[in-house]
Amino acid sequence: MINIENISFSYKTKKALQDISLEIKKGEIFGLLGPNGSGKTTLLNILAGYDSPSAGKVTVGERDLLAMSGRDVEMYRRREVGFIWQQTARNLLPYLTVLENVDLPLMLTSMAPSERKDRSEELVELVGLTHRSGHTPDRISGGEQQRAAIAVALANSPSLLLADEPTGELDDTTAGEILDLLGSINTEFDTTLLIVTHDPDI
Ligand code: ADP
Ligand code: MG
Repeated sequence: MINIENISFSYKTKKALQDISLEIKKGEIFGLLGPNGSGKTTLLNILAGYDSPSAGKVTVGERDLLAMSGRDVEMYRRREVGFIWQQTARNLLPYLTVLENVDLPLMLTSMAPSERKDRSEELVELVGLTHRSGHTPDRISGGEQQRAAIAVALANSPSLLLADEPTGELDDTTAGEILDLLGSINTEFDTTLLIVTHDPDI
């Protein structure tokens, strides 16, 4: 599913990744563990096509990310991959309800409005948030925000889900529930899962 060969990446003055190789199989749950500052988010930004390494190779499925046009990368992001970002503000729009947040990525597809409504309600139910679907993110708990973020990430039925510290701001019990949810998504939809974290317990 993911094949990374010998990539390096530097911000202006800071070397963030050096000669990294990684292979993740389809349907696998892969946990990538490293302390803060070790380059985990940088790696996910590369897998999302936001940054490009200076050398090496990055393929996801059949796609060679480093050879793709900007438009193809955009399509890849919209259709193939789901993201749960470390900065929770990047996952949900604050002025939209849970249901509207889930509906938003579907608006970029050719799905008919009635079908979209069914799909977004189904996703909200899948993550156990039906009773919160009319709430904006500031009116729900941290765990519920992560559930909503997972529903948004799953909207386009991605074959790959990238999760950056998905339990970083949650207590142990809630973190366990979120991991259970991710596990059941992997089982039910065969979604390949890459979870990066600094927490060995995860
Ligand atoms: P992690 O997610 O594992 O905490 P990051 O990928 O965020 O690590 O960061 C890797 C290294 O790159 C760190 O030393 C960090 O300070 C640096 N870094 C991250 N983002 C930037 C940026 N936009 N500009 C400069 N340096 C950055
Ligand atoms: Mg990070």
